[in-house]
Amino acid sequence: RENYKMVLKEMNRTAAIYFNYLLTATSAGKHALEYYHDRGFSDETIQRFGLGYANIYENDLYQYLKKQGYTDAQMKDSGLVRIDERRGGQDMFWNRAMVPIMDINGKVVGFGGRVLGDGTPKYINTKETAVFDKSHTLFAMNIARRSKRRGIILCEGYMDVIAMHQAGFDNAAASLGTALTMGHATIVKRYTDEVYLAYDSDGAGRKATMKAIGIMREVGISTRIIDLKPYKDPDEFIHNLGKEAFEGRIADAVTGIVFEIDGIAQGYNLRDPEEKIRFTKEAAKRLSALDEPVVRHSYIEAVAEKYKIDAADLKAMVTRYGTIGL
Ligand code: ATP
Ligand code: MN
Ligand code: MN
Ligand code: MN
Repeated sequence: RENYKMVLKEMNRTAAIYFNYLLTATSAGKHALEYYHDRGFSDETIQRFGLGYANIYENDLYQYLKKQGYTDAQMKDSGLVRIDERRGGQDMFWNRAMVPIMDINGKVVGFGGRVLGDGTPKYINTKETAVFDKSHTLFAMNIARRSKRRGIILCEGYMDVIAMHQAGFDNAAASLGTALTMGHATIVKRYTDEVYLAYDSDGAGRKATMKAIGIMREVGISTRIIDLKPYKDPDEFIHNLGKEAFEGRIADAVTGIVFEIDGIAQGYNLRDPEEKIRFTKEAAKRLSALDEPVVRHSYIEAVAEKYKIDAADLKAMVTRYGTIGL
């Protein structure tokens, strides 16, 4: 069984090398290479991440892997090919920019494939296989874990990760389109207890951030949230404002608790006395969950100042929630 996993990983690696060859050394891959260059990815970055291109033909990879000696059954199990009763081996990816996904040891276990330009679906990922467990795989974690930078930056997409690494932030990793799980958090915890969240600045990203803060807290990782506005994601931010500006946003990143309380505040009209009271209760409830007295007091003071609440009143309310345990 372990042996079979090795076969699947080796096949994925063979496919990655083939896709990279198509991208960098054939006329078929020229438009994909242009796509990467237009996105600002250098040739060095393309090689570092082993980026590639899947051809337009329906069984181009299938034919190639067959020549390398892989069987239909093996190819099917890799998730790269499906076997059609009438037409035989059919590739899962055509005419896409291919991003190899590696496990923590740098072994290729799957791919993300992006449409070149506009079109749907924008991304296709390899399905889960014997070697590809999405809830335990973080893109580029094999590199990020060795970074000399402080903490790990987590974001949504592999294009974001690649853009960050190219700009020098080689501590960036991403969960693969799936929501962050306890499995991911446990893996991150092996390397750091500090995570910077750089999820998309849209509604979905904010929701994912809230969830991630909680998951990280559960495994004992403290979070800080990178504000990407006015841009949508780290890739666009760095593309438009550059790496120094991104470094600035890292320095200014607020802690998970502050982000949560600011999020609560957005749901209330704080000029309305009734709503302000409800906000204060919500915030107090949140603050009461901070176990460490020094930490709790420090946040109580910060929140009181920011939202113009009397610090002593807020403290009393926090203590009440803490005792009742609500
Ligand atoms: P790009 O910059 O290339 O437009 P993005 O990284 O900003 O893409 P998002 O739409 O923000 O893409 O999605 C983030 C991540 O979610 C992607 O990297 C991918 O892993 C996953 N994802 C997005 N759309 C899909 C999809 N249709 N199917 C599967 N996964 C997807
Ligand atoms: Mn998004
Ligand atoms: Mn993007
Ligand atoms: Mn995005």
